Amino acid sequence: MYKDIATPVRTKEILEKYGFSFKKSLGQNFLIDPNILRNIVSHAHLTENSGAIEVGPGIGALTEHLARGAKKVVSFEIDQRLLPVLEDTLSPYDNVSIVHSDILKADVEAVIAEKMPDIQDIMVVANLPYYVTTPILMKLLNDRLPIRGFVVMMQKEVADRITAKPGTKEYGSLSIAIQYYCTAEVAMIVPKTVFMPQPNVDSAVIRLIKHETPPVDVIDEDFLFVVTRASFVQRRKTIFNNLQAGLQNGKAKKEDILAALEAASIDPKRRGETLSIQEFGRLADALHPHFA
Ligand code: SAM
Repeated sequence: MYKDIATPVRTKEILEKYGFSFKKSLGQNFLIDPNILRNIVSHAHLTENSGAIEVGPGIGALTEHLARGAKKVVSFEIDQRLLPVLEDTLSPYDNVSIVHSDILKADVEAVIAEKMPDIQDIMVVANLPYYVTTPILMKLLNDRLPIRGFVVMMQKEVADRITAKPGTKEYGSLSIAIQYYCTAEVAMIVPKTVFMPQPNVDSAVIRLIKHETPPVDVIDEDFLFVVTRASFVQRRKTIFNNLQAGLQNGKAKKEDILAALEAASIDPKRRGETLSIQEFGRLADALHPHFA
């Protein structure tokens, strides 16, 4: 077993050797605690036949733990300055491929087909760059990749919104956008002290496991998300008022919205945050003929 990259001493050595300076704009907060890394990887339940996709390997702190626990690791890194560093730090591992790319622009499906053709079980495991947490998750979900799920670090506030249940103040269109595809839970809360440099916000690791089938069957998925986004624009307003303001640029007919709410058995005076994903599904289907 090699010396961990993620100790404060070794991380400093590596950064000094390469004269590396952190770019805040790329969300570069590196992990410097091997225990946290072991914990993160344990939540992914990898086997020696699994594959791991990583977003943003940095200097390889998490990557090497994945390399030890999985058959194959593919890591997407946007910062060219890190490529020679990773080549050096990950040289002991022959099961890691680094792809120099912005994950938001990458054809991840093609990369999986090329680098993991024989792997059945694939997890995304990452300490995400916080400035693009939601776009990254939505892209990887919308790409319909052959993956089991995600174990990912993000800012705690976003983790709370993603995993929120109806009736809480964190519950909103992001909770529904993610929970439509996956079960979502907070796996661990992570203190600032395990990062270099320390971020300004608290962090959490969440685990998302993709549903075999969505929790609600709808006519039009995109329209479900149009309805949920509209329903939360002003959280204090009723579902009826939000839909009236949000659908068809405020020109939607009042009677059509009321009829759809009635057809879906939803009281127009309720607020969006009280509706379950199943209720939003019924509502979206009832609104669909008028507004999609
Ligand atoms: N995995 C390392 C660790 O835990 O120490 C680094 C995590 S750091 C929070 C985020 C990493 O994502 C950085 O290496 C950064 O350069 C990279 N990154 C930022 N934006 C990216 C993007 N759009 N696509 C791929 N990598 C990105």
